[in-house]
Amino acid sequence: MSKLRVGFVGLGIMGRAMARNIHQAGFPVTVWNRTRSKMEEATAWGAKLADSPKQVAEQSDVVITIVGDTPDVKAVLTGEEGVFQGAGNGVVVIDMSTIAAEAERELASQAKALGIDYLDAPVSGGDIGAQNGTLSIMVGGEAKVLDKVRSILEAMGQRIVHCGEVGAGQTVKACNQILCGLNLLAVVEALSYAKKAGVDVEKMIEVTTQGAGGSWALANYAPRIIQGDLDPGFSVEFIQKDLRIVLQEAEQMQLPLMGTALVQQLLRSLQAHGGNPDGSHALIQVMEQLGNVEIVPNK
Ligand code: NAP
Repeated sequence: MSKLRVGFVGLGIMGRAMARNIHQAGFPVTVWNRTRSKMEEATAWGAKLADSPKQVAEQSDVVITIVGDTPDVKAVLTGEEGVFQGAGNGVVVIDMSTIAAEAERELASQAKALGIDYLDAPVSGGDIGAQNGTLSIMVGGEAKVLDKVRSILEAMGQRIVHCGEVGAGQTVKACNQILCGLNLLAVVEALSYAKKAGVDVEKMIEVTTQGAGGSWALANYAPRIIQGDLDPGFSVEFIQKDLRIVLQEAEQMQLPLMGTALVQQLLRSLQAHGGNPDGSHALIQVMEQLGNVEIVPNK
């Protein structure tokens, strides 16, 4: 059986590595990115380039999008030169961006009217998981559609979980973002405490990472922070997008989420100082100010 042709829209920090992994698994890949220079890199590993998301869809059996926020996903899917304009009957569209569940349900219903199958499949595991093909992928949509594209998702991730109907992937991803935000706060508090108390911060990280307090944030962000690397990874702008989605949905459910709201407010201080493009772990800078303690070297 010939391999499914995969279209890929959005070659950012996540997308460029995910598209490459799909190609390495043997699928022919056609890509489009808004900023053309990022597509040149993809030609080096063998991607075919398209002039628009519409053209990507015309040349693909499955189209994956991973862009930014809800309006960005809508632009690449429903715009004049969007995926929906070029996708034929039976094409599967998989949105892997992190956006609101409600927006995915609306897009899925537009897709259905055009004969297009639709899944939401947001990811967790960060830039490292994207590079190594070890992402966790949370899928919403019909099981039979997931079965059709599972081998493509397996090229990008280690854990592919069918969470329910369209939108369910995003709801589970929202839970993941609550965990990420609070784990990040725990990491920057522990680092501040260790530094202020005068213990060896590297040793603290080494031993706690293996203990009950360990987390992905501790294992991945703490070493970057103490090496003075605050680059994204995952930007302040994007974690704020995700926490906004969580808090808006929580408001509709009348669900108090104090910890999440606190993290969002602390990150807002970074935004007020122009920190939107930095990695979310730049939250350490807020702790440094609040506690009058220096943790990040070479500032
Ligand atoms: P990124 O590096 O900023 O890349 C964003 C990509 O989306 C770029 O290719 C950008 O094109 C494109 N884009 C944005 N708005 C667009 C628009 N209106 N029209 C067309 N293209 C548009 O972001 P990222 O870190 O890869 O994240 C992408 C998505 O994955 C986000 O939803 C994010 O929340 C989610 N995510 C990220 C991580 C992470 O660790 N980074 C982890 C899990 C999930 P240009 O090149 O032209 O700017």
